[in-house]
Amino acid sequence: MLSLTPQDVRMGQVLASKEAVISALADWLEQDGNVAPGYGAGMLAREAQTSTYLGQGIAIPHGIQACRHLVKKTGIKALHLPEGVDWGEGEKAYLVLGIAAGSDEHLELLRRLARALGRDDLAERVRQARHSDDILRLLRVDEGEEAPLLEWRAETIRTGLKATALDELQRAAADLLRTNEQELAALQSPLHLGQGWWLSQTVTEGKPRMALVTTMAEGEHHGQPVRALLALAVSGNGHKRLLVQLADWLVAGKGAELAALAGEALQRALTRGPVAPGEQALTANQRVVTVRNHQGLHARPGAMLVQLARQFEAEIRVRNLDGDGHEVNAKSLMKLIGLGVRPGHQLLFTANGADADEALTQLQAAIHEGLGEELVPVTAETGTVHRVQDIAANTQVHGVGASPGIAIGPVYVETPVTFDYADMACNAEAERERLNSALEQADRELAEAAAEAAAPQARDILAMHRELLSDPALLEGAGARLRRGASAPAAWWAEIDAAATEQAASANALLAERAADIRDIGRRVMAILCNTPLPSPPDTPYVWVAEDTGPSEVVNMNAERVLGLVTAGGGPSSHSAILARTLGIPALVAMGGAVMGLKTGTPVILDGEAGTLHVAPAPEVLARARAQQARERQLAEQAWAQRHQPAVTRDGHRLEVGANLGDTAATAAAVEAGAEGVGLLRTECVFMGRSRAPDVSQQLAEYQAAFAALKGRPLVARTLDVGGDKPLSWWPAPREDNPFLGVRGIRLCRQQPELLETQLRALLTAAGDQPVRIMFPMVADWAEWRFARELFERVQADIHAPNVQVGMMVEVPSAALHAPQFAKEADFFSIGTNDLTQYTLAADRGNGALAALSDGLHPAVLKLIAMTVDAAHAEGKWVGICGELGSDLQALPLLLGLGVDEVSVSPGRIPMVKARVRECNLARCRALAGRALAARDARAVRALVETSS
Ligand code: PEP
Ligand code: MG
Repeated sequence: MLSLTPQDVRMGQVLASKEAVISALADWLEQDGNVAPGYGAGMLAREAQTSTYLGQGIAIPHGIQACRHLVKKTGIKALHLPEGVDWGEGEKAYLVLGIAAGSDEHLELLRRLARALGRDDLAERVRQARHSDDILRLLRVDEGEEAPLLEWRAETIRTGLKATALDELQRAAADLLRTNEQELAALQSPLHLGQGWWLSQTVTEGKPRMALVTTMAEGEHHGQPVRALLALAVSGNGHKRLLVQLADWLVAGKGAELAALAGEALQRALTRGPVAPGEQALTANQRVVTVRNHQGLHARPGAMLVQLARQFEAEIRVRNLDGDGHEVNAKSLMKLIGLGVRPGHQLLFTANGADADEALTQLQAAIHEGLGEELVPVTAETGTVHRVQDIAANTQVHGVGASPGIAIGPVYVETPVTFDYADMACNAEAERERLNSALEQADRELAEAAAEAAAPQARDILAMHRELLSDPALLEGAGARLRRGASAPAAWWAEIDAAATEQAASANALLAERAADIRDIGRRVMAILCNTPLPSPPDTPYVWVAEDTGPSEVVNMNAERVLGLVTAGGGPSSHSAILARTLGIPALVAMGGAVMGLKTGTPVILDGEAGTLHVAPAPEVLARARAQQARERQLAEQAWAQRHQPAVTRDGHRLEVGANLGDTAATAAAVEAGAEGVGLLRTECVFMGRSRAPDVSQQLAEYQAAFAALKGRPLVARTLDVGGDKPLSWWPAPREDNPFLGVRGIRLCRQQPELLETQLRALLTAAGDQPVRIMFPMVADWAEWRFARELFERVQADIHAPNVQVGMMVEVPSAALHAPQFAKEADFFSIGTNDLTQYTLAADRGNGALAALSDGLHPAVLKLIAMTVDAAHAEGKWVGICGELGSDLQALPLLLGLGVDEVSVSPGRIPMVKARVRECNLARCRALAGRALAARDARAVRALVETSS
């Protein structure tokens, strides 16, 4: 064991150079019988390889491996150099400890020093020390005196590299550290800590960072083993805890054992130290909690967890200790679900901020209580869960319906592909060529798929994917990684993963769901690079079950063969769901991880309307479903054949049916699907995805395209409805705690009237003599209405559009309650039931956990619709419905009964909506509506409709 006594320290030495210091130490060690002649040369050789400067004015020169035979007796000698000696790279040493050790005994010293190095003023105190006792005291530091922490982070630990050369490890570590060129140069001289562990250190002015890489097999560098490299870019002393923790393992002689651990296990081991299992493992700002929900952390409990996390200021990160180890923001649902938490998995939460402790306590308690779900037991021996609620035969599982229709058939469960590739490569140029050729091949494949795709949306998505393939940021990032020695697949996937993770963190659910597009294109290129074919489904028809499907997979799927689509994750607004609707494939999303446990071949009934999956149905259930499916098919065919006929009830009452559009280019297709006009043009599409506001001529072109395709049919244009959850990149808006209750829609336009004025000018001009109806979103108060109406009148006084009406959306309860006043001035109302429902029931429309509550058929919402209709009709004005409720076939008789004059729905739904109206009788609908208004809740209303039809 190395120990330092007062006799081993010579105070107040003055020496001119590092070489002189080393020579003096070597002589002293030789005189005391610690080493044989020649050891000094070995110490100098070590310095030539790597600097032994530790930090805080301390250096620890020792001989290279090849001169260990010269060590006769372990020992240490220290020279105190108050004037300092230049130790290279601008560092000055005030205390130099010459070490003679035949094995790794110097590590105990290193461990002690690592603790001492945590003191900010150590260098200065060493310099000013007068007695050798002072030095010994300074090197003894209490356990409690820890400097601020730099944590082991799973994202910056990469284990099991195929490469074993030290310089390759350095490149990999530099890549993880994201070093700049200057830092990279400073990292070039690693210090061998022992047992194959190396340390590279550089000073940074930026945030301190760590990176740790380990090898799959042991390598060698100048006679020393190579197993792992810890690289640090540090400014202060926050990293010293890491060194102490690592040194603890090396002192315990467990360096090799440690280096052999996989990512997450390695991080945990380092944090815990080489202690027996069960001992304290976590820092104060961490908690480990076991998830015992029977389907793991799927959408509903996940949403509850995220809501809870968002109530705290603290930054909260979480990783699945039983997953792939990456850490995510606990306030992002997409990321949380992406952790793939199954029953029995352990989550490690880390929180930082004033209320971190409270946040951790509450999160832990909420998970223990089941996040609103029943819990299942975890066995002590295995740590796994008895899956008491694995999907049994003849069971119905609920999810979110994303595309209507019934599909019956065997499932094909797609298990995710894994790609095998080396992280590092020797020839950067060859790797660049490899990546370029894979990108070209992927582009060719996409072009071919686009040429064959029938649906315009499919073509658009494939075009967007081709754009992604040549995205400069993606290519630049991958290029930089290639230059640092990464292999083509490693470089490509690292960039894809980072871009998708960033996208998934977007507060806007629609944008967040685009992460699937990025990963989708990423996988396509990986399949080419790794020569790993993507899974191929069976030749016979099947219901496709997957964790999540990429849009290009949906585009490529053979609609003849894919009967239906079921995803464990995803959301109804993901591209996959939109495409499934376009292709007419019934789909369910957000089903939870349990569906991945189904066996390929298991028969199911998928009901995209009801949002249910019936697994291994009993023969009588199957027979009923087949009969219903046949009926629905027949109805759909009849409805399509009559799509251009008006929607008239049996007793002769007509309901107008328009199309909801977010893109003017889809107008002609909507007319072809039977639209009698556009009932809602969400004009945000004209304003988003630009770097500045569109001018009059740009807007004119968009609106004229819609009017041209409508050929005299009316167009209801809703003016700009952005802000809140739909931000505009070119319009900086302050962060809001409750964006849905924030500055959005007409509120935002009041702050920028010129924007609304330009839009009104473009709309009125584009209309010419065709019928144009203009409405304003989110009107909650009289002043907002007056502002909009007056602005409209000013513009109209200039343009004199001949066929125009001006109205407003009713989507805030105050507008419905105050409808009698608004109806005096508004020419029409269009009820936005999506928002009206969320505001009436105080249930966030994007929150899957509240899906059952936010039902537009709630009697409270129906009452507001009735008040709006009555107020409008009293003034001779008309009322439309442009929210999703208009597409709900159960809602239609009630909307007719309440007196609604028009519904506007997604184009694909028009034929069925018209067909449903033709089945109704207005007098009976009125009676039904009266009973619905008196019902207890939405379930009771639905039951009422069910029994009456
Ligand atoms: C609504 O709120 O019902 C509506 C049609 O508007 P959006 O869905 O665009 O908010
Ligand atoms: Mg709305």
